[in-house]
Amino acid sequence: MKIVTDPDKMKTYAKIIKKENKLIGFIPTMGYFHEGHTSLIKTARKQSDIVIVSVFVNPIQFGVNEDFDSYPRDTARDEELARACGVDAFFCPKKEDMYPEDYSTYVDVEGLTSGLCGKSRPGHFRGVTTVVAKLFNIVRPDIAYFGQKDAQQAFVIKRMVEDLNMGITLKILPTVREKGGLAMSSRNIYLKGSERKDAAILYSSLKLAEELISSGERDAKKIIKKMRELISTVPAVSKIEYISIVDTGFLKDVAIIGGEVLIALAARVGRTRLIDNVILNVKSEKPENDHDRP
Ligand code: AMP
Repeated sequence: MKIVTDPDKMKTYAKIIKKENKLIGFIPTMGYFHEGHTSLIKTARKQSDIVIVSVFVNPIQFGVNEDFDSYPRDTARDEELARACGVDAFFCPKKEDMYPEDYSTYVDVEGLTSGLCGKSRPGHFRGVTTVVAKLFNIVRPDIAYFGQKDAQQAFVIKRMVEDLNMGITLKILPTVREKGGLAMSSRNIYLKGSERKDAAILYSSLKLAEELISSGERDAKKIIKKMRELISTVPAVSKIEYISIVDTGFLKDVAIIGGEVLIALAARVGRTRLIDNVILNVKSEKPENDHDRP
């Protein structure tokens, strides 16, 4: 496995691969690997000739009071796991090479970034799309792999790739969960004592929403209320930042559920901010009087 820190060297490597007409599969990450990351890498390994993984804790996607400094890092372990998954090149650029002093260009996707996590983390998605655009320009992948765990991020990157004619195929893979249902996340390491077990309530609330919808409920407000009530039974959840049910086109709140919807939430368990979501395809409500139909 090639280990590259210099973006120019990474670019040269990718150019050589392209000349050989090989398919590049790329997984951008912030490291501290768990099975969510390795599932993306393993899928890329099956679908591409050359697999490139990046590990870069991107400072510009963290707010001033967020956890950039304390974000978990273990590059040596990540390298080992990447090697074991058959990665060809491990790209871990330095902050100063990605953002030199005179750095002044940003990519901003409008609309899709205004709600959900975009509301509580202003500037976050601008940081994400900027770094992903830079990484795409360096690595020139044919296919890039992302997790549904960060659903809004996946929608935003898809929009950017389309709007900027990047010509990269995106694959969004399912969320990998721990046994109790908690979505795997590098930040789970922050959870102390019983918090990890308690955090599973977030996924339970999403399952509850799914059950309510299966049994015919279509009123988004009622479902959100029941999800909140369930989460509130666990005192370790110190704050529910949002629970939203949105359409998957514009990520706007829906009142009556029908078609494809994203049910997404963010909450703090102790001091740790966690997110989770499910995407459901919901049959629209049956009209009360079938004979009223045109
Ligand atoms: P991160 O290192 O947290 O920025 O994540 C890198 C990539 O892995 C992103 O595309 C995430 O959506 C994805 N990812 C993170 N956690 C999971 C998970 N539990 N299941 C699937 N993909 C994940």
